[in-house]
Amino acid sequence: MQLILMGLPGAGKGTQAEEINEKYGIPHISTGDMFRLAIKEGTPLGKQAQGYMDEGALVPDEVTNGIVEERLSKDDCAKGYLLDGFPRTIPQAEALDKITTKLDRQLDYVIHVDVPEEKLLERLTGRRVCSTCGSSYHITYNPPKVEGVCDKDGGVLTQRDDDTAETVQKRLTVNIEQAKPLLDFYKEKGILITIDGDQPIDKVFTDIQAKLDNEV
Ligand code: AMP
Repeated sequence: MQLILMGLPGAGKGTQAEEINEKYGIPHISTGDMFRLAIKEGTPLGKQAQGYMDEGALVPDEVTNGIVEERLSKDDCAKGYLLDGFPRTIPQAEALDKITTKLDRQLDYVIHVDVPEEKLLERLTGRRVCSTCGSSYHITYNPPKVEGVCDKDGGVLTQRDDDTAETVQKRLTVNIEQAKPLLDFYKEKGILITIDGDQPIDKVFTDIQAKLDNEV
């Protein structure tokens, strides 16, 4: 099964990607993760990507499309793949069409985990992270036993700089603008599956499975 997973920051894409990977046995391919790993390992790819990533800019298409083609041609993608973070633009989506046609690994579905913007704002601004162990909490949905204190090691819980209301709003606006043309592109192709992401994690996954098992 060849899939793309789409969703705004805070929509729970990472969690659903893990579930899909486990249930369907297809590799989760995140271009962001691939770039982060390359930077950590100091590879030539990492050196090419670093400057762009530091500025929050997109890595140029020649580089990004190249790593996606290389990754999708690997043997573990013979049964399928789950792309995450790619494509981000229409030219990338067109490049992906060419790549998957060449490899005879064409897309089946694009899963969009849809959560209203105001809910995402609440989810992201309510996040608190332990300053010592990095454990993540939410002031409403997953609060610590004692306010402001980590359950695991008693560390102080803080809000990440990029989780403040203003920054989160900016991030969401940019992402919404980026995603819109892609959602239209795949809707027109008739392969867009929209899932209500404003539900408990398990229910979101049940809905994804129901769609995939019925339609594929
Ligand atoms: P992410 O983890 O998906 O938010 O990606 C982190 C960073 O990696 C982005 O801000 C970009 O600099 C780079 N990146 C990830 N995916 C792409 C892509 N499809 N096209 C260009 N740059 C990307």
